[in-house]
Amino acid sequence: MLNQETGIRGYVVTGNGESLEPYRVGRTKVAQDLAALRQLARRRPEIAGDVASSQRLVHRLEQFYGQQIALVEQGGNGQRRAQRNVLAGKQLFDRFRADSGRLAARADAIVAKARTSQRRTFWSLVAVVLVAGLTAAGIAFWLLLSVPRRIWSLYDVERELREAAERGARASRSLEHVDDAVILLDAEETVRYWNPAAAGYLGTAEADALNRPVADVVPGLPLIEQALARGGGDTVLPLGPAGGERWLVARETRFPEGRVLVLQDVTRERELERTRSEFLATASHELRTPLAAVYGAVRTLRREDRPSSPELDAQLLAMIETEAHRLAEIVDQILVSTEVDRGSIPIRREACDLRELCESAVESARVRAPETIELALDVSDGVFVRTDPSRLRQVVVNLLDNAVKYSPRGGRIEVRVADSDGFVAIEVADQGLGIPEEAQERIFEKFVRLDPEMRRGVGGSGLGLYISQELVERMGGRLRVDSRPGHGSTFTIQLPR
Ligand code: ADP
Repeated sequence: MLNQETGIRGYVVTGNGESLEPYRVGRTKVAQDLAALRQLARRRPEIAGDVASSQRLVHRLEQFYGQQIALVEQGGNGQRRAQRNVLAGKQLFDRFRADSGRLAARADAIVAKARTSQRRTFWSLVAVVLVAGLTAAGIAFWLLLSVPRRIWSLYDVERELREAAERGARASRSLEHVDDAVILLDAEETVRYWNPAAAGYLGTAEADALNRPVADVVPGLPLIEQALARGGGDTVLPLGPAGGERWLVARETRFPEGRVLVLQDVTRERELERTRSEFLATASHELRTPLAAVYGAVRTLRREDRPSSPELDAQLLAMIETEAHRLAEIVDQILVSTEVDRGSIPIRREACDLRELCESAVESARVRAPETIELALDVSDGVFVRTDPSRLRQVVVNLLDNAVKYSPRGGRIEVRVADSDGFVAIEVADQGLGIPEEAQERIFEKFVRLDPEMRRGVGGSGLGLYISQELVERMGGRLRVDSRPGHGSTFTIQLPR
């Protein structure tokens, strides 16, 4: 404003337009300052009144200056009138100066207050940052001290849990391969573990057994509990396929959270036991019959009061010879079977003429066979195989003896030799009793006889096929049977060439 005042005053005195330059500069500056003051007054209402009054005065002053410029521009008289107005202009300007001085003082006070408040804000910020920093450092320090300890203890707990889980997994993996049924029950008698053997024995898959009451998934549980009460004895359960039976030995281990039930399948052992005692009965019978015949014949021969008869003597001696031979055969079979069990039978490898071997076996069978049996051989010349001839002959003779024994009504027995790529097959086919399908695998087991009571009066030890199969397998071959009950059987020895 001072610039404007100075410019106007110069212009009024000199009438020179150039003197107005400070006025113009000042006017622009004042407009800018007023705009800034209005903006400040919006944030600081306490100076709004002073700003408005200064603005009014500025307005009046600028109006006054505008009039003075217009008067000077009129020339002579106008300029003189303007010079006379200078005093009035000065008074107006002084009022403005006083007003603006007040405004400036208030603005300075505001600025000073703002500075103080800024400083206070700054220091409180510094204090907050410091406190926050110190707290953060403290927390960090505390974490540094306590977290590793905590992490280690968590790690220990985690490791223990993991090791326990691994131990559990290893245990359950091992139990998966155990042949006995292993069942874990909790205190409420609910199934918590069920191994594959349990699924096999009891016919319920693991997924269907888990989390169910044991009584729902173990058939015959009362029988098992009775056996356990007796001290874990044998139990017969109707568990086998098609309603068959199984012998199980039950054992249990109790602990506070429940119990482990173990069922061991001893059906095979029982079966073996049974066949063994059957064998003893059969063997004693088999040994007794020829022994009784020999004993009777010897006693007759030694009787002094009997009439002399060379024919009767010859008959009795022949009988002694046959029965002694039968005795020797049975004892031989028992010995050979123990050797087979021990694996101590040596198998030779030499070129063996099958025609020759089969002819000799058929001839020896023919001597013993009744007249109702017709024996036939179908083999071409020059079929050779590298094997043990005496062991192979023993097998063929055994098959022929069986074919004769189990054809009580007679019939045709045929030995056929087939020669194919890589293999030779010797077949012994009869038209006898035949073998039920379900027994066709079992007859190769030790001591198994399908008619142990010998209702048909045919003797035997139940060892012949067992020995034959073991021998053929040691020769690298296979022995199998194909049979229809009532129509006959065909046994086939298959050997590599
Ligand atoms: P064994 O003849 O001394 O009883 P094997 O081991 O030779 O003993 O035979 C086992 C069982 O197989 C016989 O008791 C018989 O029941 C049955 N078997 C063997 N060969 C024949 C056959 N050719 N026909 C019918 N059954 C047979």
